[in-house]
Amino acid sequence: MPELPEVEVLARFLRPALQGKTIRGVNVRREKVLRPTSQKQFYQALVGAKFTGLTRRGKYFLFELQAKARDKKLTVLGHLGMTGKMFLARKEEPLPKHAAVILDLGETNFIYEDTRYFGRMTLDVSSIEKLGPEPLGEAFTPELFARELKRSRQPIKVKLLDQSLVTGVGNIYASEALFRAKISPKRAANKLTFAQTKKLHGTIREVLAEAIQFGSTVPINISGKKSDGLFYFGKAVGAPDFYVERLKVYDRAGKPCETCGFSIKRIVQAARSTFFCPRCQKV
Ligand SMILES: [Zn+2]
Repeated sequence: MPELPEVEVLARFLRPALQGKTIRGVNVRREKVLRPTSQKQFYQALVGAKFTGLTRRGKYFLFELQAKARDKKLTVLGHLGMTGKMFLARKEEPLPKHAAVILDLGETNFIYEDTRYFGRMTLDVSSIEKLGPEPLGEAFTPELFARELKRSRQPIKVKLLDQSLVTGVGNIYASEALFRAKISPKRAANKLTFAQTKKLHGTIREVLAEAIQFGSTVPINISGKKSDGLFYFGKAVGAPDFYVERLKVYDRAGKPCETCGFSIKRIVQAARSTFFCPRCQKV
């Protein structure tokens, strides 16, 4: 599943590629992903519109467009769901089987592909209204973080996935940030000391920033055709293979902790896997 770093890396890749491009045609193959926008509304708004910008909010893309009607701006919200991919492909390339939305941009097609169709591409942007602060933004301070954690008795790992607390911290980076801060994932959120909260605030930013930095510097095959488990999209052929080792606990159950040598443990919290070192992260 794509996490915040993947979405940010993809936004950085798509932004210059889409800038100034005009949508000549719209082909919707899975109307479900547009909801609540209808196919007709989507088509009418987008045909003839020009891309003017792209930003990220949490794990959402906000595509900014200049509508065909002069002085009218519109925003399209995009989300990759669990299996979505968004990329540009040359016209002559065959369309992927699970293409949900195809935008004709002239020489290229913008393709939103999704094998399970849990992602979205819609004119309804209300989903971003209830999101908490960006983990890498200025509004997310240790003080605010501490205030919010004091109000919750949930295990800290579960609370970190609450998108109204801080948006875009997913399952992988929640485990990684807790390991770096030496905090047990089982500890109740309101039982963290301010020193621990401050440390965790720092490690959340650190793991996300490092992943974005990594994704921005290696060749990645955005269409994911050569996907081999490296990053979310799959790396390009010949790209170095060291991403997996960057994760200290995630998906490393039974392997030795890099700090103390103890075996990394996997538990299930709120139906999601959590990985941690029982010795470094004591309750
Ligand atoms: Zn350890």
